Amino acid sequence: MAEQRTFDDRDGWIWFDGKLVPWREANIHILTHAMHYASSVFEGQRAYNGEIFKLHEHSQRLHKSANILGFEIPWSVVEINAACREVLKANKLVDAYMRPVAWRGSEQMGVSAQGTKPHMAIAAWEWGKYFDPKLAEKGIRLDIARYRRPAPYTAPVHSKAAGLYMIATLSRQQAESRGYEDALMFDWRGQVAEATGANAFFVRDGELHTAIPDCFLDGITRRTVMDLARNRGVTVVERDIWPDELESFEQMFLTGSAAEVTFVGSAGPWNFEVGDLSRQLAKDYDDTVNGRIANR
Ligand code: PMP
Repeated sequence: MAEQRTFDDRDGWIWFDGKLVPWREANIHILTHAMHYASSVFEGQRAYNGEIFKLHEHSQRLHKSANILGFEIPWSVVEINAACREVLKANKLVDAYMRPVAWRGSEQMGVSAQGTKPHMAIAAWEWGKYFDPKLAEKGIRLDIARYRRPAPYTAPVHSKAAGLYMIATLSRQQAESRGYEDALMFDWRGQVAEATGANAFFVRDGELHTAIPDCFLDGITRRTVMDLARNRGVTVVERDIWPDELESFEQMFLTGSAAEVTFVGSAGPWNFEVGDLSRQLAKDYDDTVNGRIANR
């Protein structure tokens, strides 16, 4: 891949509505429904040593996300899997981040979307760690987000929908402008939810605690890490977590396809250490995605 160029100006191939097109030609018109009304859903997945981790689950979630937004992707989960592999191969990528995206087209303008056609594209590129490894080693610093994860009756919270990232982007932007790496988001009730693009875990007395994903994404990485912890005999507790409890946790980390397992040093006024269990699970996750532990 060339020097850091903008994302629309690179060499390579993008899968676009069923065929590979040169990277710079993967364009949509300005009057595309998704652009104006956020009628777009996407995935974020990584390939390790040429294998896309939990590909089938990601493709299934993409389908589900679109269905929640009221549209059907015209390619089956199996076809999307094959297309993802094709993109990896065409770009000669072995370790990569991949972005499948599906959206409503330009047949209709206005809030109504019945007449729009669904489209889909898949891009892939080399992408290192989500957070600066030097900072992540000691644990990244989280701001407390100004925005809260909306209630399930306020937004389609179980869809990985572009529209839900408006508050995530704003929260991350605020965090970065204040010198933090990311932000911890509470939910509509005031309970601890997740970060702007990753789920949150806490360790106390050798147990793992995480919030119930009833108003945010139940991450594929989240579920993988919970399995890895259970495989080590660690008790995993999914429950309501209120901010006043944060003081009592010893360790905190984030999970996500992009973030993988990222240690957290602090969230707002609460400090955490990078402890043994966090390190163990980060290693187990790394071993899993690289095929050294079976769970693909
Ligand atoms: N929450 C949000 C808001 C995210 O964007 C992500 C990344 N997709 C996650 C959680 C983690 O999900 P996954 O582990 O499936 O990548």
